[in-house]
Amino acid sequence: MSTSQQLYQRAKRVLPGGTTAAARVNRGFGQPVYMARGKGSRLYDVDGHEYIDMCMSMGASLLGHGHPAVCEALRQAGELGIMCAQDSVYQVELAEKIAAAIPCAEMTRFTMSGTETTWYAVRLARSITGRQKVVKFEGHFHGYNDYLQFNFWPPAAEAWPHLHREAPGAPGMEQYIIVLPFNDPAILEQTLSEQKDEIACVILEPLNYNSGGILPIPGYLETLRRLTAKYGILLIFDEILSGFRTGPGGMQTYFGVTPDICTLGKALGGGVPLSAFAGKRQLMQRVAPAGPVMHSGTYNANLANILPGLAFMNEVTKPGFFPPLLARCQRLYDGMNAAFQKTGLRARLQGTGARFGLLFGDAAEGPFLRASDLARQDWAMADRFFLATAKRGVYFHTTRHHGISIAHSDEDIEQVIHVTAEAAQASV
Ligand code: PMP
Repeated sequence: MSTSQQLYQRAKRVLPGGTTAAARVNRGFGQPVYMARGKGSRLYDVDGHEYIDMCMSMGASLLGHGHPAVCEALRQAGELGIMCAQDSVYQVELAEKIAAAIPCAEMTRFTMSGTETTWYAVRLARSITGRQKVVKFEGHFHGYNDYLQFNFWPPAAEAWPHLHREAPGAPGMEQYIIVLPFNDPAILEQTLSEQKDEIACVILEPLNYNSGGILPIPGYLETLRRLTAKYGILLIFDEILSGFRTGPGGMQTYFGVTPDICTLGKALGGGVPLSAFAGKRQLMQRVAPAGPVMHSGTYNANLANILPGLAFMNEVTKPGFFPPLLARCQRLYDGMNAAFQKTGLRARLQGTGARFGLLFGDAAEGPFLRASDLARQDWAMADRFFLATAKRGVYFHTTRHHGISIAHSDEDIEQVIHVTAEAAQASV
């Protein structure tokens, strides 16, 4: 038995499922892969295997593992007493940097996790509009808060137009949630015009990485912007995953459509838990104590996450940060797609900026516009491929999005393409 397998047996006695996050189980291995440490683009498991990491902390480690500026920020936080539940100059600086980089982010509030942040963003929208309902899209993931945990990736029989609750235990939120298929302007227009007096906000991933990297069709975000503005509905871009993948201004800069409110997280903390909601001044002024919408918390803007957040923003706003990263992404995407074609594995990489999806079987062919298209994914083939790459030193998690970091070198990219060709051959 490997050390990882032994640890799993031990972990299962004290951690439900042997883990602290359900999504961490690697289906290929049938258990979580326990890691000893990470450095740059690499992960090292407890059995001494070295991997090029293509998961990158589910997108949180855009700077790579243990970036020197983040480590220095953590050292500084230690020196300053790991102070929390106090305000500091660093949160002001970070909010200023976010405002300078992200179009809608005139004011920011810091939080700890994405689940918490999207919950606050919805609460703010409901308070401002005085309306109750929230529109979300099937296949768009916003964390496990009670409002938004509907129709992530439901079984076909329970998919839209059905409302599918993802986890039991939540109070009956069904009356407040409207789920729509993404990229269907007619259904969007009809729903918003019919229920305009009841809808507080529309929340979406502007680029749906959580269903494999589905792009909005041309004009869709503009339509969404126009209709929400017309009906006084607030538009929330959940940029927790999409933020910082194409540039410091997020997808709202990339697509040139500015929402009212956005949520940030993952990459923002440089690998340390930091999240935020941000928006136009007039809306954010409704947050307590400036306004009535309560938002507070012991750990909000603590030094151990604000200083790494500052370090992250300093790195990604350097003019030289994105061009080499995006060039490596393109090389990787072209190289992996060429490897799939050459080996005849029915697979396709769908990438934008520093995050991508891998589509297998029927999903690799035909349209890729909404979550129901990802339902054609051949997960058995996907999991075979992921296991075959892991055995060859490249770690893809068995999930819907993957990505590289600034720490991935040209040699890493060549190696991933080489391993893709071998693993694809083994998975046909
Ligand atoms: N929104 C999006 C778009 C996400 O991708 C995620 C996490 N995958 C969340 C919200 C939830 O964030 P967290 O895991 O920090 O709770």
